[in-house]
Amino acid sequence: MFQKILIANRGEIALRVLRACKELGIQTVVVHSTADADAMHVRLADESVCIGPPPSRDSYLNIHQIVAACEITGADAVHPGYGFLSENAKFADILAAHNITFIGPTGDHIRVMGDKIEAKRTAKRLGIPVVPGSDGAVTEEKEAKRIAAEIGYPVIIKASAGGGGRGMKVAHTEADLEVALQTARSEAGAAFGDDAVYIEKYLQKPRHIEVQVFGDGFGRGVHFGERDCSLQRRHQKVWEEANSPALNAEERSRIGGICAKAIADLGYSGAGTIEFLYENGEFYFIEMNTRLQVEHPVTEAITGIDLVHEQIRVASGGGLSVRQEDIKFNGHAIECRINAEDPRTFTPSPGTITHFHTPGGLGIRVDSGVYSGYKIPPYYDSLIGKLIVHGRNRVECMMRLRRALDEFVVDGIKTTLPLFRDLVGNADIANGDYDIHWLEKYLAKEE
Ligand code: ADP
Repeated sequence: MFQKILIANRGEIALRVLRACKELGIQTVVVHSTADADAMHVRLADESVCIGPPPSRDSYLNIHQIVAACEITGADAVHPGYGFLSENAKFADILAAHNITFIGPTGDHIRVMGDKIEAKRTAKRLGIPVVPGSDGAVTEEKEAKRIAAEIGYPVIIKASAGGGGRGMKVAHTEADLEVALQTARSEAGAAFGDDAVYIEKYLQKPRHIEVQVFGDGFGRGVHFGERDCSLQRRHQKVWEEANSPALNAEERSRIGGICAKAIADLGYSGAGTIEFLYENGEFYFIEMNTRLQVEHPVTEAITGIDLVHEQIRVASGGGLSVRQEDIKFNGHAIECRINAEDPRTFTPSPGTITHFHTPGGLGIRVDSGVYSGYKIPPYYDSLIGKLIVHGRNRVECMMRLRRALDEFVVDGIKTTLPLFRDLVGNADIANGDYDIHWLEKYLAKEE
């Protein structure tokens, strides 16, 4: 087992990882920018190293500084959290070259999944169902038209190097296609430095369903069920659930089994998430994330398994603590992402939190890095906490969520709490009857 883990992140996820390390009796080092000197993860860690000024590129994305911090403190492993360097293959390679363990998959696995065309090819080869579309990059308009006619309109043009919901264009007819292809390519080139784009069928009313997987480092793969993250705004997840209200046990075990086998065949090690769109009973792979997800706590709530403990165990060569048959799904969980944003316009609302009170009681978990008197720096993303609620079934979970949202107090800044208080009383949400466009339509109506 590791002696000392360096946590290369900030905010709630740095704290989340720190808690797992403490439980396992592992020393912790955190890195921070000058803007985060007062952050909770800095206060609670055994050691901390300031790695630079506020902008991420000079601090949380500064590989040299982070490697130097490992060497100064003698950390033998790095947990990257999510975002920042968590899916940076070069970072994983550099750590390996310095004999420091990256708590995650190999650089090569990150590379394959970071390129969407390559990821889709790999998924297809491993028997994972994919969205019908072009086999690889498409550059010629003629070829684009031929493929689109074959799969049928509407189609979506996506950047191979895309991420964060950027670099996608929908074409509803052949007349739209030329412009969509040109703009997608030039936007991809400008945003990602790679203008490769591909075409796939545009699904009109899908749900976003993702499967939590793990490779144990010895060639075995398991799945921890799925999460439904269909409630999104601008392709950003807002509310996540496990299990999905749309799947039955047979579908769950079928798609889970396919994913677990793929992970084993790939020789993948550590945590991963295989994301699908789901429509009319069919799953369509869209991408794989080779890291821990923001929404992992809903899976922890229904399985009772600490996924960060498992990541650390696997990275240290100790394998998983559970076999597939030990993973049981118990009840229902929902996560709400509390952002420091105006609940109507979603513009960031940094500033000082004058009062912070979190709900408690059975089935409630709050993962947050903030506290009363904390000043939210304007440089980073606006997530200030996650409310995760568990119940024996979805009805009980929703009852408890409503009550917890009423107890939650964040004064001094605007947050997305009022949005969740509206959603929890909505009939479609109560029925689990929503697709990936539901939230945007709802917000447009409210305006
Ligand atoms: P990113 O890596 O940028 O998040 P994804 O491939 O995961 O890109 O897609 C992000 C979102 O875009 C999906 O959650 C979905 O809302 C939408 N999307 C992507 N592909 C399709 C498709 N073929 N049909 C319909 N919507 C899609």
